[in-house]
Amino acid sequence: MRSILPLRRRALLTVAGLCLSAVLGAAHAAEPLKAVASFSILGDIVREVGGNDVSLTTLVGPDGDAHEYEPTPGDAKKLSAAQVLFVNGLDFETWLPKLTKASGFAGKTVVASQGVTPRKFAQAGGGHKPGDHDHDHEHEHDHDHDHDHDHDDGHNHGDGHHHHGDADPHAWQSLANGVIYARNVADGLAAADPAHADAYRQRAAAYIARLGALDAAAKKTFAAIAADRRKVVTSHDAFGYFGDAYGVSFIPAMGVSTDAEPSAGEVARIIEQVKRDKVPAVFVENISSPKLVQQIARETGAKVGGTLYSDALSKPGQPGATYMEMFEWNVRQLAAALQP
Ligand code: ZN
Repeated sequence: MRSILPLRRRALLTVAGLCLSAVLGAAHAAEPLKAVASFSILGDIVREVGGNDVSLTTLVGPDGDAHEYEPTPGDAKKLSAAQVLFVNGLDFETWLPKLTKASGFAGKTVVASQGVTPRKFAQAGGGHKPGDHDHDHEHEHDHDHDHDHDHDDGHNHGDGHHHHGDADPHAWQSLANGVIYARNVADGLAAADPAHADAYRQRAAAYIARLGALDAAAKKTFAAIAADRRKVVTSHDAFGYFGDAYGVSFIPAMGVSTDAEPSAGEVARIIEQVKRDKVPAVFVENISSPKLVQQIARETGAKVGGTLYSDALSKPGQPGATYMEMFEWNVRQLAAALQP
């Protein structure tokens, strides 16, 4: 008996010592990876895959327009402290190279759209250009025809809207691409923080399964709507990947970017097309002015189907606060408006 107590005490001390070192070790290892995402939708994907292992800052927040973003000195500070930066790529964040340079960012940059099949833009201003009216009408889905034109043909506005590449940057508007984003995010996190690689891959796998299920549901929803009714007008040309993936024709009232003001002639042409093609609904977006779309609705009798989330999530508590919620919302709004 007498020998047991000291032994037990010694054992307890050892256990306490082990616990203490485990706690200290854990505290050290649990220092989360400092990550920055360029815009809210990508930020949500990083949050899903990164979980508590990542401390995330998002530059362009909810309802923000990442085409037209003006970085702040605070952004440079956040970036200078970051270990990994997630960007969309496809020339979406035209303001970012200057910011990364100014911040002295020394971490890894991960391009989330890496491996996506880029969709080429049709022309700015709704895929129409003067004198090309009938051609475009007859080949609404025939993007190859549009590819053959020089890039400069797409810039009819002459108002200096800033340059985007030939590729459409809005690749997240297809959930199959969302899966690619999630994989790239997991790979990027694992490379920057190998100690948590398994956790990143596990979270990504679970998330990808949910994205896949939503993708299948979206396809089923639109397949149940007559093909000749699957046409809508939106503000800017953000839904090309969505249209290709789910069989919906999107007629953008504005062009590629959010600051491309269409001319009166272009607006008149869109109005004519909406009437002629009996486009059932027009939609406003959370990131751009509803004025033009509302004008088109007034002049055509098309109904305003509601708000779509194009390039940014909603604020928390609103319907598009995560990538999946935003997607589900868009699918539901579109389907409701296109149903006879
Ligand atoms: Zn956009």
